[in-house]
Amino acid sequence: MPYICQNSRNELFLYNIFIKTPMEQEYASTLLENAVSELSRLPGIGRKTALRLALHILRQEERMGVTLGEAIINMRRGVKYCGVCHNISETDICPICNNPSRDATTVCVVESVKDVMSFENTRQYTGLYHVLGGVISPMDGVGPEQLEIESLVSRIKSGEIKEVILALSATMEGETTNFYIYRKLGAFPIKITQLARGVSVGNEIEYTDEITLGRSLLNRTLFSDSFKNS
Ligand SMILES: [Zn+2]
Repeated sequence: MPYICQNSRNELFLYNIFIKTPMEQEYASTLLENAVSELSRLPGIGRKTALRLALHILRQEERMGVTLGEAIINMRRGVKYCGVCHNISETDICPICNNPSRDATTVCVVESVKDVMSFENTRQYTGLYHVLGGVISPMDGVGPEQLEIESLVSRIKSGEIKEVILALSATMEGETTNFYIYRKLGAFPIKITQLARGVSVGNEIEYTDEITLGRSLLNRTLFSDSFKNS
């Protein structure tokens, strides 16, 4: 028996589509069920939200669903990672690395491509980036070898870089990764700096506002000072 809910037409439509009750998650259409299963794989999307999204797409004109599907396919097939900094790019080398007006002597080391976007939004930084792809986290099984640390060392070896800004989140994992990189790069004649502590402990870069992030970048300090004085 369909589960009848009188609260609104939408809910009535939503619940009537079940052959059984919603708790049993049985659908009238396997095509709908497949779409719900795929949508519910996305972060933060449970099966209820996935069902709501799928039903919304079904209610729209067919073109809307096709355009959505094509956008996802095109993004998945067309977007790759920059061969130098590992930021996302549609070309082998990203527009930031390819831009001759950027300061190629300074590299800002970040955790993810979202952090690159955050720093670009500050409009305070004109150097290059290096995206690690995460931070060292033994609890999650992430060691240095899973991150783009060796490729950072290779970039430093090329000799053009004069300053490395460590801009990882101020979490225990971020600090551990900062120190690991500092040790790795210690032998090179470069300046190693870190963000000023405007980014408070535990904060993620992506959730920090642009003004605070820009100020932390401008007021960056020598990384070695952070443990020499303590
Ligand atoms: Zn790049």
